[in-house]
Amino acid sequence: MVDFSLNENDKNIIRALRKQGEVQRKYARYYDDHEEELAPDEFPEAAEFDYIKQMEADRGHDGCTPTVFFLLKTITEYRGDFLRLRLPPYALGNATLASVGTEEQQKKWGHMLLAMANTEPGCGSDSKAIETTATLDGDEWVLNGEKIFVSHGVRAGGVVVWATLDKSVGRGAIKAFLVPKYAPGFILAKEEKKMGNRYSDTAAIVFKDCRIPRENLLGLDETIKTKGGGGFKGLMKTFNLTRPFVSARGIGHVLACREFVTDELKKEGIEIDWEVGQYKRTAVQQKLIELEAELEAATLATMHAGWLADKGVYNNLEASVCKSKAGDISRKGPQLALEILGASGITHDQLVEKWFRDTRATDIYEGTAEIQRLVIARSILNYSSQELK
Ligand SMILES: Cc1cc2nc3c(=O)[nH]c(=O)nc-3n(C[C@H](O)[C@H](O)[C@H](O)COP(=O)(O)OP(=O)(O)OC[C@H]3O[C@@H](n4cnc5c(N)ncnc54)[C@H](O)[C@@H]3O)c2cc1C
Repeated sequence: MVDFSLNENDKNIIRALRKQGEVQRKYARYYDDHEEELAPDEFPEAAEFDYIKQMEADRGHDGCTPTVFFLLKTITEYRGDFLRLRLPPYALGNATLASVGTEEQQKKWGHMLLAMANTEPGCGSDSKAIETTATLDGDEWVLNGEKIFVSHGVRAGGVVVWATLDKSVGRGAIKAFLVPKYAPGFILAKEEKKMGNRYSDTAAIVFKDCRIPRENLLGLDETIKTKGGGGFKGLMKTFNLTRPFVSARGIGHVLACREFVTDELKKEGIEIDWEVGQYKRTAVQQKLIELEAELEAATLATMHAGWLADKGVYNNLEASVCKSKAGDISRKGPQLALEILGASGITHDQLVEKWFRDTRATDIYEGTAEIQRLVIARSILNYSSQELK
Protein backbone atom coordinates (compact mmCIF):
# COMPACT_ATOMS: atom_id res chain seq x y z
CA MET A 1 0.00 0.00 0.00
CA VAL A 2 1.25 3.48 -0.83
CA ASP A 3 2.09 5.14 2.47
CA PHE A 4 3.36 8.72 2.77
CA SER A 5 2.71 9.02 6.51
CA LEU A 6 5.36 10.22 8.94
CA ASN A 7 6.09 8.51 12.25
CA GLU A 8 6.54 10.64 15.39
CA ASN A 9 10.32 10.74 14.98
CA ASP A 10 9.95 11.93 11.35
CA LYS A 11 7.53 14.65 12.42
CA ASN A 12 10.03 15.86 15.00
CA ILE A 13 12.77 15.94 12.34
CA ILE A 14 10.60 18.01 10.02
CA ARG A 15 9.77 20.40 12.89
CA ALA A 16 13.47 20.69 13.74
CA LEU A 17 14.31 21.38 10.10
CA ARG A 18 11.71 24.15 9.97
CA LYS A 19 13.47 25.70 12.95
CA GLN A 20 16.84 25.30 11.25
CA GLY A 21 15.38 26.94 8.16
CA GLU A 22 14.73 30.12 10.14
CA VAL A 23 18.46 30.30 10.85
CA GLN A 24 19.45 29.45 7.29
CA ARG A 25 17.44 32.35 5.94
CA LYS A 26 19.82 34.69 7.72
CA TYR A 27 22.53 33.65 5.27
CA ALA A 28 20.44 33.24 2.14
CA ARG A 29 20.63 36.84 0.97
CA TYR A 30 24.35 37.15 1.64
CA TYR A 31 25.30 34.19 -0.57
CA ASP A 32 22.85 35.34 -3.22
CA ASP A 33 24.60 38.73 -3.31
CA HIS A 34 28.09 37.21 -3.13
CA GLU A 35 27.98 34.50 -5.77
CA GLU A 36 31.76 34.52 -6.02
CA GLU A 37 32.08 33.25 -2.43
CA LEU A 38 31.65 29.57 -1.61
CA ALA A 39 29.52 29.12 1.49
CA PRO A 40 31.59 27.58 4.31
CA ASP A 41 31.23 23.83 4.95
CA GLU A 42 29.85 24.71 8.37
CA PHE A 43 28.06 27.70 9.80
CA PRO A 44 28.49 28.86 13.42
CA GLU A 45 25.08 27.48 14.45
CA ALA A 46 25.71 24.00 13.00
CA ALA A 47 26.36 22.26 16.33
CA GLU A 48 22.98 23.45 17.64
CA PHE A 49 21.30 21.21 15.08
CA ASP A 50 23.40 18.09 15.54
CA TYR A 51 20.44 16.35 17.17
CA ILE A 52 18.70 16.22 13.76
CA LYS A 53 21.41 13.86 12.47
CA GLN A 54 20.89 11.57 15.46
CA MET A 55 17.12 11.61 14.96
CA GLU A 56 17.61 10.63 11.32
CA ALA A 57 19.79 7.72 12.37
CA ASP A 58 16.98 6.62 14.73
CA ARG A 59 14.22 6.82 12.09
CA GLY A 60 13.01 3.27 12.52
CA HIS A 61 10.97 1.40 9.95
CA ASP A 62 7.40 2.49 10.52
CA GLY A 63 5.79 5.20 8.40
CA CYS A 64 6.89 6.13 4.90
CA THR A 65 9.80 4.60 2.97
CA PRO A 66 13.27 6.28 3.08
CA THR A 67 13.13 8.12 -0.26
CA VAL A 68 9.66 9.52 0.52
CA PHE A 69 11.01 10.75 3.86
CA PHE A 70 14.10 12.33 2.23
CA LEU A 71 11.86 14.02 -0.34
CA LEU A 72 9.75 15.53 2.44
CA LYS A 73 12.95 16.59 4.13
CA THR A 74 14.17 18.25 0.92
CA ILE A 75 10.86 20.11 0.54
CA THR A 76 11.23 21.37 4.11
CA GLU A 77 14.85 22.41 3.59
CA TYR A 78 14.05 24.39 0.46
CA ARG A 79 11.04 25.93 2.14
CA GLY A 80 13.54 27.19 4.71
CA ASP A 81 15.97 28.20 1.94
CA PHE A 82 18.67 26.04 0.58
CA LEU A 83 21.85 26.88 2.42
CA ARG A 84 22.44 24.05 4.83
CA LEU A 85 24.17 24.80 8.10
CA ARG A 86 26.40 21.86 7.43
CA LEU A 87 26.84 21.04 3.76
CA PRO A 88 26.26 17.34 3.11
CA PRO A 89 28.79 15.40 1.00
CA TYR A 90 26.17 14.46 -1.57
CA ALA A 91 25.49 15.75 -5.08
CA LEU A 92 24.45 14.49 -8.53
CA GLY A 93 27.81 12.74 -9.02
CA ASN A 94 27.22 10.75 -5.82
CA ALA A 95 23.85 9.61 -7.16
CA THR A 96 25.54 8.54 -10.41
CA LEU A 97 28.23 6.64 -8.52
CA ALA A 98 25.48 4.85 -6.57
CA SER A 99 23.72 3.95 -9.86
CA VAL A 100 26.65 2.76 -11.97
CA GLY A 101 29.68 2.24 -9.72
CA THR A 102 30.77 -1.15 -8.37
CA GLU A 103 30.45 -1.74 -4.63
CA GLU A 104 34.18 -1.20 -4.22
CA GLN A 105 34.07 2.08 -6.17
CA GLN A 106 31.16 3.28 -4.04
CA LYS A 107 33.16 2.52 -0.89
CA LYS A 108 36.25 4.26 -2.29
CA TRP A 109 34.66 7.53 -3.47
CA GLY A 110 31.20 7.67 -1.84
CA HIS A 111 32.42 9.90 1.01
CA MET A 112 33.53 12.68 -1.39
CA LEU A 113 31.29 15.43 -2.76
CA LEU A 114 30.98 14.47 -6.44
CA ALA A 115 29.70 16.63 -9.28
CA MET A 116 28.31 15.13 -12.49
CA ALA A 117 29.26 16.42 -15.94
CA ASN A 118 27.21 15.51 -18.96
CA THR A 119 26.25 18.81 -20.64
CA GLU A 120 28.61 20.19 -23.30
CA PRO A 121 28.49 23.25 -25.58
CA GLY A 122 26.90 21.06 -28.27
CA CYS A 123 25.05 18.57 -26.06
CA GLY A 124 22.24 19.43 -23.62
CA SER A 125 18.78 17.89 -23.90
CA ASP A 126 20.07 15.31 -26.35
CA SER A 127 22.47 13.89 -23.80
CA LYS A 128 23.69 11.11 -26.07
CA ALA A 129 25.32 13.69 -28.42
CA ILE A 130 28.42 13.68 -26.20
CA GLU A 131 31.66 14.73 -27.89
CA THR A 132 34.04 14.24 -24.96
CA THR A 133 36.19 11.20 -25.67
CA ALA A 134 37.93 8.63 -23.48
CA THR A 135 40.77 6.61 -24.97
CA LEU A 136 42.66 3.83 -23.26
CA ASP A 137 46.42 4.35 -23.19
CA GLY A 138 48.16 1.54 -21.30
CA ASP A 139 46.64 1.51 -17.83
CA GLU A 140 45.17 4.98 -18.08
CA TRP A 141 42.16 6.62 -19.66
CA VAL A 142 42.85 9.85 -21.53
CA LEU A 143 39.89 12.26 -21.59
CA ASN A 144 39.47 15.14 -24.03
CA GLY A 145 36.53 17.53 -24.20
CA GLU A 146 34.61 20.33 -22.52
CA LYS A 147 31.78 20.19 -19.99
CA ILE A 148 29.58 23.13 -19.01
CA PHE A 149 27.04 23.86 -16.25
CA VAL A 150 28.60 21.44 -13.81
CA SER A 151 26.82 22.00 -10.48
CA HIS A 152 29.34 21.99 -7.58
CA GLY A 153 32.16 21.71 -10.14
CA VAL A 154 34.26 24.15 -8.10
CA ARG A 155 33.57 22.78 -4.64
CA ALA A 156 33.46 19.05 -5.43
CA GLY A 157 36.42 16.76 -4.76
CA GLY A 158 35.76 14.87 -7.98
CA VAL A 159 33.57 14.87 -11.07
CA VAL A 160 31.73 11.95 -12.66
CA VAL A 161 32.29 12.63 -16.37
CA TRP A 162 30.28 11.04 -19.18
CA ALA A 163 32.46 10.41 -22.25
CA THR A 164 32.36 8.25 -25.35
CA LEU A 165 34.77 5.46 -26.23
CA ASP A 166 33.70 5.69 -29.88
CA LYS A 167 31.66 8.58 -31.27
CA SER A 168 30.50 6.54 -34.27
CA VAL A 169 28.63 4.03 -32.05
CA GLY A 170 26.26 6.34 -30.09
CA ARG A 171 24.69 5.48 -26.73
CA GLY A 172 26.36 2.09 -26.30
CA ALA A 173 29.84 3.62 -26.19
CA ILE A 174 29.07 6.25 -23.52
CA LYS A 175 30.61 5.56 -20.11
CA ALA A 176 31.03 7.36 -16.77
CA PHE A 177 34.48 8.10 -15.34
CA LEU A 178 35.50 9.31 -11.90
CA VAL A 179 37.89 12.21 -12.41
CA PRO A 180 39.49 13.52 -9.22
CA LYS A 181 39.76 17.28 -9.06
CA TYR A 182 43.04 18.45 -10.51
CA ALA A 183 43.97 15.16 -12.15
CA PRO A 184 46.60 16.05 -14.80
CA GLY A 185 44.72 17.82 -17.64
CA PHE A 186 41.67 18.78 -15.48
CA ILE A 187 41.16 22.50 -16.10
CA LEU A 188 38.57 24.46 -14.16
CA ALA A 189 37.84 26.92 -16.96
CA LYS A 190 35.07 29.14 -15.63
CA GLU A 191 32.60 29.70 -12.82
CA GLU A 192 29.19 30.74 -14.17
CA LYS A 193 27.37 33.85 -12.99
CA LYS A 194 23.72 32.84 -12.77
CA MET A 195 20.28 34.37 -12.46
CA GLY A 196 19.45 32.17 -9.45
CA ASN A 197 20.83 29.32 -7.33
CA ARG A 198 23.81 31.56 -6.66
CA TYR A 199 24.69 29.80 -3.40
CA SER A 200 25.65 26.79 -5.50
CA ASP A 201 28.67 27.03 -7.80
CA THR A 202 28.36 26.03 -11.45
CA ALA A 203 31.51 25.39 -13.47
CA ALA A 204 32.82 24.85 -16.98
CA ILE A 205 35.58 22.24 -17.04
CA VAL A 206 38.00 21.38 -19.83
CA PHE A 207 39.67 17.98 -20.04
CA LYS A 208 42.89 18.26 -22.03
CA ASP A 209 44.66 14.91 -22.32
CA CYS A 210 43.36 14.36 -18.81
CA ARG A 211 44.79 11.11 -17.41
CA ILE A 212 43.03 8.93 -14.86
CA PRO A 213 43.64 5.31 -13.79
CA ARG A 214 41.94 2.54 -15.76
CA GLU A 215 39.93 1.50 -12.68
CA ASN A 216 38.20 4.91 -12.61
CA LEU A 217 35.76 3.71 -15.26
CA LEU A 218 32.57 3.37 -13.19
CA GLY A 219 31.18 -0.14 -13.37
CA LEU A 220 34.47 -1.35 -14.96
CA ASP A 221 32.69 -2.51 -18.12
CA GLU A 222 34.90 -1.56 -21.08
CA THR A 223 32.79 -3.27 -23.74
CA ILE A 224 31.07 -1.17 -26.38
CA LYS A 225 27.47 -2.21 -26.99
CA THR A 226 26.31 -1.83 -30.57
CA LYS A 227 22.70 -2.46 -29.49
CA GLY A 228 20.83 -0.95 -26.52
CA GLY A 229 21.82 1.85 -24.19
CA GLY A 230 24.99 0.35 -22.65
CA GLY A 231 26.52 2.61 -19.98
CA PHE A 232 24.23 5.45 -21.04
CA LYS A 233 21.36 3.65 -19.32
CA GLY A 234 23.15 4.49 -16.07
CA LEU A 235 22.56 8.21 -16.72
CA MET A 236 18.84 7.63 -17.18
CA LYS A 237 18.78 5.43 -14.06
CA THR A 238 20.40 8.26 -12.10
CA PHE A 239 17.76 10.73 -13.31
CA ASN A 240 14.94 8.41 -12.24
CA LEU A 241 16.21 8.81 -8.70
CA THR A 242 17.27 12.46 -8.80
CA ARG A 243 14.40 14.05 -10.75
CA PRO A 244 12.00 13.66 -7.79
CA PHE A 245 14.58 15.52 -5.66
CA VAL A 246 14.76 18.39 -8.17
CA SER A 247 10.96 18.49 -7.98
CA ALA A 248 11.07 18.55 -4.17
CA ARG A 249 13.38 21.58 -4.24
CA GLY A 250 11.03 23.48 -6.54
CA ILE A 251 8.02 22.59 -4.39
CA GLY A 252 9.89 23.80 -1.28
CA HIS A 253 10.54 27.20 -2.83
CA VAL A 254 6.94 27.54 -3.99
CA LEU A 255 5.74 26.72 -0.46
CA ALA A 256 8.03 29.44 0.86
CA CYS A 257 6.46 31.93 -1.59
CA ARG A 258 2.91 30.85 -0.72
CA GLU A 259 3.63 31.11 3.00
CA PHE A 260 5.13 34.57 2.60
CA VAL A 261 2.17 35.80 0.57
CA THR A 262 -0.47 34.45 2.97
CA ASP A 263 1.40 36.01 5.93
CA GLU A 264 1.57 39.37 4.16
CA LEU A 265 -2.13 39.20 3.33
CA LYS A 266 -2.89 38.38 6.95
CA LYS A 267 -0.99 41.49 8.05
CA GLU A 268 -3.38 43.48 5.84
CA GLY A 269 -6.34 41.75 7.50
CA ILE A 270 -7.01 39.45 4.56
CA GLU A 271 -7.49 35.82 5.61
CA ILE A 272 -7.91 33.13 2.96
CA ASP A 273 -11.18 31.31 3.52
CA TRP A 274 -10.57 27.94 1.88
CA GLU A 275 -14.17 26.86 2.44
CA VAL A 276 -15.92 29.72 0.66
CA GLY A 277 -17.85 28.59 -2.43
CA GLN A 278 -16.60 29.40 -5.91
CA TYR A 279 -19.14 32.21 -6.46
CA LYS A 280 -18.00 34.14 -3.37
CA ARG A 281 -14.24 33.86 -3.83
CA THR A 282 -12.14 36.94 -4.42
CA ALA A 283 -9.69 36.90 -7.35
CA VAL A 284 -6.79 36.44 -4.89
CA GLN A 285 -8.53 33.52 -3.17
CA GLN A 286 -9.22 31.89 -6.53
CA LYS A 287 -5.54 32.16 -7.53
CA LEU A 288 -4.27 30.76 -4.25
CA ILE A 289 -6.74 27.87 -4.31
CA GLU A 290 -5.63 26.97 -7.84
CA LEU A 291 -2.00 27.15 -6.73
CA GLU A 292 -2.77 24.89 -3.77
CA ALA A 293 -4.30 22.25 -6.04
CA GLU A 294 -1.25 22.31 -8.35
CA LEU A 295 1.10 22.12 -5.38
CA GLU A 296 -0.77 19.12 -4.02
CA ALA A 297 -0.65 17.36 -7.40
CA ALA A 298 3.08 18.03 -7.81
CA THR A 299 3.81 16.87 -4.25
CA LEU A 300 1.83 13.64 -4.59
CA ALA A 301 3.44 12.88 -7.99
CA THR A 302 6.89 13.47 -6.44
CA MET A 303 6.20 11.22 -3.43
CA HIS A 304 4.83 8.54 -5.74
CA ALA A 305 7.97 8.53 -7.92
CA GLY A 306 10.11 8.24 -4.76
CA TRP A 307 7.95 5.49 -3.30
CA LEU A 308 8.25 3.44 -6.52
CA ALA A 309 12.05 3.84 -6.42
CA ASP A 310 12.06 2.47 -2.86
CA LYS A 311 9.98 -0.52 -3.96
CA GLY A 312 12.46 -1.24 -6.77
CA VAL A 313 9.80 -0.50 -9.40
CA TYR A 314 10.95 1.12 -12.70
CA ASN A 315 9.81 4.74 -12.33
CA ASN A 316 10.98 6.43 -15.52
CA LEU A 317 7.47 7.67 -16.36
CA GLU A 318 6.62 8.80 -12.83
CA ALA A 319 9.98 10.61 -12.37
CA SER A 320 9.23 12.64 -15.50
CA VAL A 321 5.60 13.27 -14.50
CA CYS A 322 6.67 14.72 -11.15
CA LYS A 323 9.47 16.81 -12.69
CA SER A 324 7.10 18.15 -15.30
CA LYS A 325 4.42 19.04 -12.70
CA ALA A 326 6.91 20.55 -10.26
CA GLY A 327 8.70 22.43 -13.05
CA ASP A 328 5.41 23.97 -14.09
CA ILE A 329 4.44 25.03 -10.58
CA SER A 330 7.97 26.34 -9.97
CA ARG A 331 7.44 28.88 -12.72
CA LYS A 332 3.82 29.71 -11.93
CA GLY A 333 3.98 29.78 -8.09
CA PRO A 334 6.62 32.50 -7.58
CA GLN A 335 5.14 34.45 -10.52
CA LEU A 336 1.76 34.46 -8.77
CA ALA A 337 3.38 35.51 -5.49
CA LEU A 338 4.94 38.52 -7.23
CA GLU A 339 1.62 39.37 -8.86
CA ILE A 340 -0.21 39.38 -5.52
CA LEU A 341 2.51 41.26 -3.63
CA GLY A 342 2.96 43.97 -6.26
CA ALA A 343 6.01 46.21 -5.93
CA SER A 344 7.01 44.94 -2.47
CA GLY A 345 7.63 41.48 -3.96
CA ILE A 346 10.53 42.61 -6.08
CA THR A 347 12.47 44.47 -3.41
CA HIS A 348 15.80 43.27 -2.08
CA ASP A 349 14.31 43.42 1.44
CA GLN A 350 12.29 40.25 0.82
CA LEU A 351 13.37 36.81 -0.36
CA VAL A 352 10.46 36.28 -2.78
CA GLU A 353 12.32 37.78 -5.73
CA LYS A 354 15.24 35.44 -4.91
CA TRP A 355 12.99 32.36 -4.81
CA PHE A 356 11.50 33.49 -8.12
CA ARG A 357 15.02 33.44 -9.64
CA ASP A 358 16.21 30.31 -7.80
CA THR A 359 13.35 28.11 -8.78
CA ARG A 360 13.40 28.89 -12.50
CA ALA A 361 16.10 26.27 -13.10
CA THR A 362 13.83 23.49 -11.73
CA ASP A 363 12.35 23.40 -15.20
CA ILE A 364 15.74 23.29 -16.93
CA TYR A 365 18.29 21.01 -15.31
CA GLU A 366 18.02 17.23 -15.39
CA GLY A 367 15.79 17.60 -18.42
CA THR A 368 13.67 20.57 -19.48
CA ALA A 369 9.86 20.54 -19.34
CA GLU A 370 9.71 19.64 -23.05
CA ILE A 371 12.03 16.69 -22.55
CA GLN A 372 9.97 15.40 -19.60
CA ARG A 373 6.85 15.53 -21.78
CA LEU A 374 8.71 13.66 -24.49
CA VAL A 375 9.69 10.93 -22.01
CA ILE A 376 6.08 10.75 -20.76
CA ALA A 377 4.70 10.48 -24.30
CA ARG A 378 7.21 7.76 -25.26
CA SER A 379 6.38 5.81 -22.16
CA ILE A 380 2.59 6.01 -22.56
CA LEU A 381 2.59 5.41 -26.32
CA ASN A 382 5.34 2.80 -26.12
CA TYR A 383 7.66 4.53 -28.58
CA SER A 384 11.44 4.28 -28.50
CA SER A 385 13.64 7.39 -28.40
CA GLN A 386 14.35 6.80 -32.09
CA GLU A 387 10.64 6.70 -32.96
CA LEU A 388 9.67 9.84 -31.01
CA LYS A 389 12.24 12.64 -30.73
C1 LIG B 1 21.65 25.79 -12.75
C2 LIG B 1 21.98 24.66 -13.67
C3 LIG B 1 22.68 23.57 -13.20
C4 LIG B 1 23.02 22.51 -14.06
N1 LIG B 1 23.75 21.47 -13.57
C5 LIG B 1 24.18 20.50 -14.40
C6 LIG B 1 25.04 19.45 -13.94
O1 LIG B 1 25.38 19.38 -12.75
N2 LIG B 1 25.50 18.55 -14.83
C7 LIG B 1 25.16 18.59 -16.16
O2 LIG B 1 25.61 17.73 -16.92
N3 LIG B 1 24.31 19.56 -16.64
C8 LIG B 1 23.84 20.51 -15.79
N4 LIG B 1 23.02 21.52 -16.25
C9 LIG B 1 22.67 21.56 -17.67
C10 LIG B 1 21.25 21.14 -17.95
O3 LIG B 1 21.06 19.77 -17.69
C11 LIG B 1 20.91 21.55 -19.40
O4 LIG B 1 20.85 22.96 -19.42
C12 LIG B 1 19.61 20.95 -19.89
O5 LIG B 1 19.75 19.58 -20.09
C13 LIG B 1 19.12 21.59 -21.20
O6 LIG B 1 20.12 21.59 -22.15
P1 LIG B 1 20.49 22.93 -22.96
O7 LIG B 1 20.63 24.01 -21.95
O8 LIG B 1 21.66 22.63 -23.83
O9 LIG B 1 19.24 23.25 -23.82
P2 LIG B 1 18.88 22.67 -25.26
O10 LIG B 1 18.96 21.18 -25.26
O11 LIG B 1 19.68 23.40 -26.28
O12 LIG B 1 17.36 23.08 -25.38
C14 LIG B 1 16.95 24.42 -25.68
C15 LIG B 1 15.42 24.45 -25.72
O13 LIG B 1 14.94 23.51 -26.72
C16 LIG B 1 14.03 22.58 -26.14
N5 LIG B 1 14.20 21.26 -26.76
C17 LIG B 1 15.37 20.58 -26.92
N6 LIG B 1 15.14 19.38 -27.51
C18 LIG B 1 13.80 19.29 -27.70
C19 LIG B 1 12.93 18.30 -28.26
N7 LIG B 1 13.42 17.15 -28.72
N8 LIG B 1 11.61 18.55 -28.28
C20 LIG B 1 11.09 19.72 -27.80
N9 LIG B 1 11.87 20.71 -27.28
C21 LIG B 1 13.20 20.50 -27.22
C22 LIG B 1 14.39 22.55 -24.66
O14 LIG B 1 13.32 22.15 -23.86
C23 LIG B 1 14.80 24.01 -24.40
O15 LIG B 1 13.64 24.76 -24.17
C24 LIG B 1 22.64 22.56 -15.40
C25 LIG B 1 21.88 23.65 -15.88
C26 LIG B 1 21.56 24.69 -15.04
C27 LIG B 1 20.76 25.84 -15.56
